[in-house]
Amino acid sequence: MGSEAATAAVDLLRSQVPLQTDGELVLPSRGGVGLVLVDVVNGFCTVGAGNLAPVAPNKQIEKMVEEACRLAKLFCEKNWPIFAFLDTHYEDKPEPPYPPHCIIGSGEENFVPALEWLENEPNLTIKRKNCIDGYISSIEKMDPIFLLIGLENIRLKLLVLVLGICTDICVLDFASSTLAARNIGQVPPLQDVVIYSEGCATYDLPVEFAMNMKGALAHPQGLMHHMGLYIAKGRGAKVVDRVVLEPSE
Ligand SMILES: [Zn+2]
Repeated sequence: MGSEAATAAVDLLRSQVPLQTDGELVLPSRGGVGLVLVDVVNGFCTVGAGNLAPVAPNKQIEKMVEEACRLAKLFCEKNWPIFAFLDTHYEDKPEPPYPPHCIIGSGEENFVPALEWLENEPNLTIKRKNCIDGYISSIEKMDPIFLLIGLENIRLKLLVLVLGICTDICVLDFASSTLAARNIGQVPPLQDVVIYSEGCATYDLPVEFAMNMKGALAHPQGLMHHMGLYIAKGRGAKVVDRVVLEPSE
């Protein structure tokens, strides 16, 4: 599919499953927000870094990394909590249907270069996850659920803002599980899970390539990004397309 056809396909999808976003998120200057970064790692974002990395520069992924850096800086300046999932796998534990990726020691499992500075920040909690759903990965050994989103020491957090990759896979699963947990009272006082559309991205595997790859699932980027946001909204997430900081008094 050429870029014009891809745009037409996204337009058609948008007309059939329109997504009404929640507009702009104004971060309250008093805080009460946790930032969750999902898998902003080389293996998914850095050109040529591995089986699931982009093969050429990709605007949606570049924008996501840029926004992740912008908001991470803002949260660090305010000393507000940031929780980062880093997809990390053992060589002998495959994650079908995906080929090997983010294997420990490969470098794919680490932050992209633009976010390396974040590693030493005191407001950051890192959770290396070995499955798609970060929520599940955090309770695998019966760790308290709150350890997961760093909520054990941020009980004031009313809202979790989620950015990362992939919109329709790890971001969606984390948001869905967290919202299900919220709905049955497992993560008080969490009120909202907000997904920032411009701060999310997904990978691109157009149908014309996928049909020549045995076992591959077609995954056109624009369509799947839209569907990821749409399904997340159907799970109860808020979806915003701008994030700004409330001016302090
Ligand atoms: Zn993985």
